Amino acid sequence: MQTLSQQLNILTPSPLQRIQPQWRNCADYQIYIKRDDLIHPIISGNKWRKLSNVLEVATKNGTEHIGSFGGGYSNHIHALAYCCHTLGIRFTAFIRGNYSGNETPMLNDIACWGAEICYLSKLDYKQRDQSGFVSELARNHSIDYMIPEGGSQADCFAGMQHLLDEIDEPFDVMLSPVASGGTIAGLATSAGHVTNIIGIAVLKGQAYIDDLVADLIGSINVNTPYSIHHEYHGGGYAKANTELKHFCADSTKALGIPFEPVYSGKVLFALKHMIEKGLLPKGTRLLMLHTGGMQSAR
Ligand SMILES: *Cc1c(COP(=O)(O)O)cnc(C)c1O
Repeated sequence: MQTLSQQLNILTPSPLQRIQPQWRNCADYQIYIKRDDLIHPIISGNKWRKLSNVLEVATKNGTEHIGSFGGGYSNHIHALAYCCHTLGIRFTAFIRGNYSGNETPMLNDIACWGAEICYLSKLDYKQRDQSGFVSELARNHSIDYMIPEGGSQADCFAGMQHLLDEIDEPFDVMLSPVASGGTIAGLATSAGHVTNIIGIAVLKGQAYIDDLVADLIGSINVNTPYSIHHEYHGGGYAKANTELKHFCADSTKALGIPFEPVYSGKVLFALKHMIEKGLLPKGTRLLMLHTGGMQSAR
């Protein structure tokens, strides 16, 4: 029987690629990128990492109908809808706000893949993590399995351990974007050849994000220490100033790797800033996790 990755045409292990940008002080470091953006053309890299274990369990248990939460541009909803479509699992997306008559490209895609779309008012959407609200939605829509927003839950951590398992050289620091927190929480609870993780918050709200990650980790052991930097979000989620947009375009051209301003561009910008300001010890081996998200660049 085909594995889930084979059924979905997932390319793992993703490549580890050395880059040599023309930044100040760059010669003092060895910089690599973990190319999770190449895992799949539609399924965004870290969304696959977070969903792989959950979908494995769901298919084993014969789950017939999955539900999840997201905004109108959510990479998570997009990836999950595509996976469910390919695997023949019914899927309902609970979307924040009402886009009927004004669908985003992402919503059009998932409708094509047979997803059922249910719009929630912003007030209702606020209850997306409350178990009573979630179980009532599941009951009303006959959903077997509800996945939280962003796919971020402790069940997603196994996929992040797989990611670290693919890295067989030592790195002092790994940089990763942080939004709903599942990626960094999963990396922190996993163990491998990475000594430290630096998370780059892509949205505003320091205490909120720090708590989100700490809550996801809960009482699970932190095996790879992490810290989260909050000075690179550029004003908030999906906010990009002209400088960041130019930086993404220039870096895409110079390095031959695609960068977009929502996630990977902010992390690369942070990396450049830390190197140029000498914030990282000389000789450090650095690894940037490119989480993908390129299908959202349109
Ligand atoms: C969702 C997403 C993230 C953020 O990951 P979290 O686990 O939500 O913190 C980063 N990069 C890309 C491309 C994403 O789609």
